[in-house]
Amino acid sequence: MRDPEKVRARARESRQRHPEKERERKRRFNEKNPEKRAEHLRNYRNRDPERARNHVRQRRAMLLEAPGDGVGVEDWITILDWTSGLCAYCGSGEKITPDHVIPLVHGGAHDITNIVPACRRCNCSKKDTPVSKWAPDWLLPWWIVVAAITTTERTPRG
Ligand SMILES: [Zn+2]
Repeated sequence: MRDPEKVRARARESRQRHPEKERERKRRFNEKNPEKRAEHLRNYRNRDPERARNHVRQRRAMLLEAPGDGVGVEDWITILDWTSGLCAYCGSGEKITPDHVIPLVHGGAHDITNIVPACRRCNCSKKDTPVSKWAPDWLLPWWIVVAAITTTERTPRG
């Protein structure tokens, strides 16, 4: 009855049928096992440095091709100011990185109108998910506030 092969096959099938559940499961796992995730990342880089390099290259190309004026140091300081340097999603102050609210792969701009400070944890778990899909409901008010600020404080250049 408990054929491990079958159990695995069923688990695989369920993963394919519910990709969002699988993502959630992975996210929880990564949250609980940050060291395992780091190790996995290291292994990935060591095993396939070419692929890892390509990944970085692709990311860079995407930033260059993205619409928007780009983000300079001063822009980033302005962005940080909106949330007093805290993560726009969870309020954490740890390892703050720029996050594209509308992911670049979804046509989001690489400029001050589309970037908020995000802690590494939020940034990693959000990845290329649009914020409205990724953020739990209780986070949305926060996000709307940030969006409102980004639109009102948008200063025309030139
Ligand atoms: Zn966060």
